[in-house]
Amino acid sequence: MQEPNKFDDAEHCTACGKKLERDEIGLHKKLVNRGSTRFLCKPCLAAKFRMSIEDCDHLIANFKAAGCSLFY
Ligand SMILES: [Zn+2]
Repeated sequence: MQEPNKFDDAEHCTACGKKLERDEIGLHKKLVNRGSTRFLCKPCLAAKFRMSIEDCDHLIANFKAAGCSLFY
């Protein structure tokens, strides 16, 4: 039997296997490492950094407002 939630690609969260949104990839790059090629989804990032989902949304909104090239 295959591991059900082991996605080793750039389109799924490496922790939970959720399909990633572009914003989540951008947020991961901002918070973790700009050169990352494997990403965490927003809930997993929030847990890792002890933030709420609302905090993450707020950060994404701020980065977008600042014209960050990782968000477009
Ligand atoms: Zn996740």
